[in-house]
Amino acid sequence: MLRVIEYAQRTDTGRVRPANEDSFLARTPLFAVADGMGGAQAGEVASRMAVEVLHEGLGERSGGTVAERLRDQVVEANQRIHERAQSDSRNAGMGTTLTAAYVDERHLVVVHVGDSRLYRLRGGELERLTRDHSLVEELVRQGRLTPEEAAEHPQRSIITRALGPESEVAVDSEVLRVQDRDVFMVCSDGLTAMLSDQKIGDIMTSRPDGSLEGDLPLQVYVDALVDAANDAGGRDNITVLLFRVEGDDTPGTLGGATGAGVPIGEQPTGSHPGPDAEQATAVMPVVTAADLEREAGDDAPRPRSLVELADGPDAAGGPRSPRPGQKKRRRGLRAGPFIVLFLIACVLTGGYFASQTVYFVGSYKGLVTVYRGLPYDLPAGVRLYSANYPSSVPVDEVDPRIRKRLFDHRIRSLGDANDLVSRLERGEVVKP
Ligand code: MN
Repeated sequence: MLRVIEYAQRTDTGRVRPANEDSFLARTPLFAVADGMGGAQAGEVASRMAVEVLHEGLGERSGGTVAERLRDQVVEANQRIHERAQSDSRNAGMGTTLTAAYVDERHLVVVHVGDSRLYRLRGGELERLTRDHSLVEELVRQGRLTPEEAAEHPQRSIITRALGPESEVAVDSEVLRVQDRDVFMVCSDGLTAMLSDQKIGDIMTSRPDGSLEGDLPLQVYVDALVDAANDAGGRDNITVLLFRVEGDDTPGTLGGATGAGVPIGEQPTGSHPGPDAEQATAVMPVVTAADLEREAGDDAPRPRSLVELADGPDAAGGPRSPRPGQKKRRRGLRAGPFIVLFLIACVLTGGYFASQTVYFVGSYKGLVTVYRGLPYDLPAGVRLYSANYPSSVPVDEVDPRIRKRLFDHRIRSLGDANDLVSRLERGEVVKP
């Protein structure tokens, strides 16, 4: 008999992204991480749907093996997310990864789509048990990249499989043998893009609190891992779940279980999750456009003025490119103050609101971002735009050949802008 004797988890927005689009479920015997993507809050919606659908189906059906039921739920989650994306343009192109581990009486059952990962720590050795569905992992398999190159590759966050984008999805599933005291980790790529497997293993076999002996609570390690990912830059949302399993895979025995572990008390192991389990799913903060505007502050992305767009050959510049607009603006004030004032008056009335129903693509803190409004700074510092959805794609990872057209600040509908950006996030070839 196997049982989970301890678990710990944490999710963190990281240091760059304005919102947390990861969701998780940590409720014995099921541990799952989903990493969402898509415009506005669509990524968060998708990742929450994935863990909720996975969870809700387990208690209902009795037919089939655990692996079959989990796989069915992943397929179901994919269909529901896909339908939602089709039915609402605000959610166009949304998707999510999903990696889940279920401890049954004898095995660990794993289902997996995307680049969230499952690891096992056994006897001081950390081993990765899932294979990313990502561009770089494909290239490694084809022998075109070494694992070391893949770990540093600028496009390592591009995934080739997700729940939501297509009506069908291929689900990896596996049934693994477990040994007494194995520790498993499910995590999002916000951890593994920042820390090498070597570094993660070092942390998990260290004693972060400086003590010399005895088992430390798993929470100590969860916190150390999340903190290390943030210290390394925290470029993405970070979610880490750890759980320790006791017993062995012999049916009906309780190998090593007597008195050694910390029982989970009110959650009997091996039971199916109850109907109130939503409490265990991560509740992420909702970020409004107003938050983003506030956050944009002075290091906001600075779309160029229309004049600069018309004559600037370097339309693809990132957020740190200099803005030569100041001079022109002052000249404009001297030449035609009345025209300028009239323009401001117009904009401050109806024009402003009209401008807020359109969108364009720009960059924000170095990430490809959907903006609401018009890509235009008026005199007196009036901005007609605000960051609506910063994606997970760094500007400098976009193919230079498409960068120029991507950042031409063409006016788009929200659905169009979101679709473009989320296809970039999935690594598709886009024609902006
Ligand atoms: Mn991520």
